[in-house]
Amino acid sequence: MNKIAIVVPCYNEEEMLEVFYQEVKKQLVPDYDFYFIFIDDGSKDKTMEIIKSLNTKDPKVKFVSFSRNFGKEAAMYAGLQAAKLLDVNAAILIDADLQDPPSLIPEMLKYYEAGYKHIYTKHKSRKNEPFLKKFFAKAYYKTYGILTKNPNVAQGARDFSLLDRDVIEAFLQVKDYRRFTKGIFTWVGFEKKCIEFDYVPRYAGKTKWSFKKLFRYGMLGIKQFSHVYNLIPNLLIFLCLLLLGFEIGYGHIIGFDFLALKIEFLALLILIGIKYLMRLVYDIRDQSLSRPLYLTKESNIECKHD
Ligand code: UDP
Ligand code: MG
Repeated sequence: MNKIAIVVPCYNEEEMLEVFYQEVKKQLVPDYDFYFIFIDDGSKDKTMEIIKSLNTKDPKVKFVSFSRNFGKEAAMYAGLQAAKLLDVNAAILIDADLQDPPSLIPEMLKYYEAGYKHIYTKHKSRKNEPFLKKFFAKAYYKTYGILTKNPNVAQGARDFSLLDRDVIEAFLQVKDYRRFTKGIFTWVGFEKKCIEFDYVPRYAGKTKWSFKKLFRYGMLGIKQFSHVYNLIPNLLIFLCLLLLGFEIGYGHIIGFDFLALKIEFLALLILIGIKYLMRLVYDIRDQSLSRPLYLTKESNIECKHD
């Protein structure tokens, strides 16, 4: 019998977990051995208490609780590591807020049986999303596609997905310290199938993603999967050449003294360059320190870092 883990990253989801558990349970078709793996990402509310109470009723409810909030990316990594330890055949990544409809689980399993190794989901359209979120998301995915030369990271793609054990293994082998899961899943390959669904608002509680956090995450995705580090110096060189060309071509006609302007402009470019270089150095440092992605405070699965 195929063993499937339902992996759920949770950060302050006390309002959601009971109803989430019940809703998912309804969709768990027989013929499979299902486990829940809740990752408590340093919640400050009653999330952990609720997970433990679910565990007393259902021993197939497993958990890993972090020592602090490490972010959803770390939670997904920990969840898939735990799934590997439980020796599952596949795992389903799903948010706790019912924005990822559990009713799609049977369809995912059907495609899994048909041989697909990575069944992912995306929104059909963004028409019900808040206007600003919709606008920035669209612009972002366009930019991401161009800069990473990879338009395959689907517009509106969710983390909600079913992953075969081969995909889990591949995902865990990627040791990026700052992780961009959507990009990693595209990068690892394997046979993919997409299921589309309509946007669903959060059932209860609040989003944990501020605009700033989303923006940073988006930039990280571009940095991790493109040569954008090269793009900025290229842009600066282009600007300098443009200024030089303009001065040679038109400086004498306009009769404008560019000298003062040039010094300030040059200083500005150098400062941007230095700041940019420092960013790059810090990124390299973060990766080379190889700190663990998360620390476990408590777990009912034997969980090791690798
Ligand atoms: N989450 C997490 N750690 C965080 C932020 C979020 O584990 O630091 C979880 C959260 O509990 C939820 C999922 O990630 O299950 C998606 O978060 P959220 O619904 O806030 O994001 P949105 O749907 O608004 O993008
Ligand atoms: Mg959500």
